[in-house]
Amino acid sequence: MQHAKNLKEYRAELREALGDEFLRQAMDKFARFYPGARARAFAGMDVDGLIHEIAEAKDKAAARMDELYEAFKAKAEAAGVVVHLARTAREANEIIAAIAKENEVKRIVKSKSMTAEEIHLNHHLEAEGYEVTETDLGEWIIQLRGEGPTHMVMPAIHLSRYQVADLFSEVTHQKQEVDIEKLVKVARRELRPRYIEAEMGISGANMAVVETGAIGIVTNEGNARLVTTLPRVHVALMGLDKLTPTLAEGLRVLRVLPRNATGQAISSYVTWINGRNECASSPDGKKIMHIVFLDNGRSALARDPLFSQVLRCVRCGACANVCPVYRLVGGHRYGHIYIGAIGLILTYFFHGRDKAKNLVQNCINCGACKAVCAAGIDLPMLIKEIHARILDEEGHSAPSTLLAAVLKNRKLFHTLLRSAKLAQKPLASGGYIRHLPMLLAKDQGFRTLPAIAAKPFRDLWPRIRPETKSPRYRVGLFSGCVQDFVYPEQCVAAVNVVAGKGAALDFPLDQSCCGLPVVMMGEIEAAREVARQNIRALDPGKYDYILTLCASCASHLKHGYLKLLGDDPAWAVKVRQFADKVIDFSSFAHDVLKLGPEDFRKDGGSVTYHAPCHLCRGLGVKDAPRDLLRDAGLDYKPSEEEEVCCGFGGTFSMKFPELSAELLAKKLEHAEATGAQTLVTDCPGCVMQLRGGLEKKGSSMRVKHMAEILAQQIK
Ligand code: SF4
Ligand code: SF4
Repeated sequence: MQHAKNLKEYRAELREALGDEFLRQAMDKFARFYPGARARAFAGMDVDGLIHEIAEAKDKAAARMDELYEAFKAKAEAAGVVVHLARTAREANEIIAAIAKENEVKRIVKSKSMTAEEIHLNHHLEAEGYEVTETDLGEWIIQLRGEGPTHMVMPAIHLSRYQVADLFSEVTHQKQEVDIEKLVKVARRELRPRYIEAEMGISGANMAVVETGAIGIVTNEGNARLVTTLPRVHVALMGLDKLTPTLAEGLRVLRVLPRNATGQAISSYVTWINGRNECASSPDGKKIMHIVFLDNGRSALARDPLFSQVLRCVRCGACANVCPVYRLVGGHRYGHIYIGAIGLILTYFFHGRDKAKNLVQNCINCGACKAVCAAGIDLPMLIKEIHARILDEEGHSAPSTLLAAVLKNRKLFHTLLRSAKLAQKPLASGGYIRHLPMLLAKDQGFRTLPAIAAKPFRDLWPRIRPETKSPRYRVGLFSGCVQDFVYPEQCVAAVNVVAGKGAALDFPLDQSCCGLPVVMMGEIEAAREVARQNIRALDPGKYDYILTLCASCASHLKHGYLKLLGDDPAWAVKVRQFADKVIDFSSFAHDVLKLGPEDFRKDGGSVTYHAPCHLCRGLGVKDAPRDLLRDAGLDYKPSEEEEVCCGFGGTFSMKFPELSAELLAKKLEHAEATGAQTLVTDCPGCVMQLRGGLEKKGSSMRVKHMAEILAQQIK
């Protein structure tokens, strides 16, 4: 759980987490293992098709939540089960405590349930005088430590065997060996009597199948079977979102859930419970069974056209497994009860704005979570949307209001950039700001920042504008503000690559920043206005392609503008036409111009590659850049984790410099390990981060934009 009241306190918590060496190693180990395990588990399966089917089925179920609840209740009650609906967390706690009281329960055993964590069930039952024991190994460990889970599937992943051995020694009053198998035996020995003594077992459930009235529980340890079998009372607690119309739909989720969670083809135990089972400890020989469905805002979510998709979540935890920020700081700092990308969103709805407001700013918008989500939820977009909602509810900060006002006014923005060029003079040399003001140096000193260029691209354009006779394509060039004012040479390089290949280039001067920075700051109205200005400047009717060398701009122009203006009747057609024509530089060079080995010189030296998040995941462009590097006579040496974020993330690197620095260090370590001379990428933001980091550490490795390396190699 994170309790920080403001961003300053939250950053202090993050620094503390970064100092936890074991946490870092454990997270890192799993993050490296997971992608391969997931890929192997899904080998030969149509993953995208399955995810699409799950998303569609879950959306339909969410729209019929009330009806499904009534139908399930009728089926389950016909089999002797009592079914309850709790509208709030408090109601759920009271219902469960009343069941315990009515059945003269003293001791309760529990298997893992995130819904129980959501309502702080243990806390409530313990306050009522019940003895509650968690029986999932990880959950028991964190219960003994008085902590919440740090991962939805692996709740104690942040702890070392040494810490667990110390904990178990304390609990058993006996020195325990630091041996995982032996520690598991200690847990088993300690927990077995609890199952036998307990009068009541509480479990979660992964699904409630309406057509049969059964619940399904997926576990790896088998403890849920003991919890639901031995005590005479069983209470299953689950969210209304777990209602599944048919068994076939439930089984489809089961095909994806363990594969996506931990890379297992199937979990060790799948338990189906349909009605009251035989139970020797119950007076009538049959178990007393209750199912409690929790609403706690779920029916309101089901009615929300944008956020209803969060009810698709099957709680696989994959969105945390791949999140570069979670990997650094763990679930206690990247979530409240629910963790990872979905946790950031659910925290706002289930635990309130105060708990969510720091968390949602800590998303770097890399898109890794969306790419693996078992239910196809657009997690980064929803996180940004919550950030914007919180700002609307609490008021926008002065810096973000100022940035929004400046970006909406292109002339003012560009005048300020030109003035900054003059102001930076005493601080800059060799293209870098060498002396950051003290205030900035403390946080931002992990990389050297670039200086504003002597002349922006827009001033160079009239002189370098190429004449193309009988062009095959009319191309509008969108530079984005970084390439226009900081790295104009990247645009010049692109002109040199493209000009002789049949493309008539145009660079309309009314274009401005793409607007992504204001989206990241939650300034949605300003983002809309900037989008309208750029669409006016680059009228899609005039071009076959709208070309940009910035992966982040490309992804925002193509997808972000549609989200901003797609529902506006005055802009819907235009924005779609615009988005259809947006193309990134590598795809344009590879797929449209079809540049191949015959277009390039040989022996250009060795290179490695960094795949910008917004290119490889935002636009799904993976092969074109690597093919170009090989075709361009370069010795391409793939680096480890090429598609993991470099830590730039625009305003993220300013707001969370300690996290940005860690991500950058890892990225550079992988790139340098290839032994390549040059690190190539497709985004000026990534160039800024990578080049600044290498410059700071005095590395001989160079960073080039794809356009620059192709311009160097083109015949
Ligand atoms: S977009 Fe990236 S940083 Fe944000 S939650 Fe998803 S994986 Fe984490
Ligand atoms: S949001 Fe998606 S990836 Fe994350 S836990 Fe839910 S289903 Fe899994």
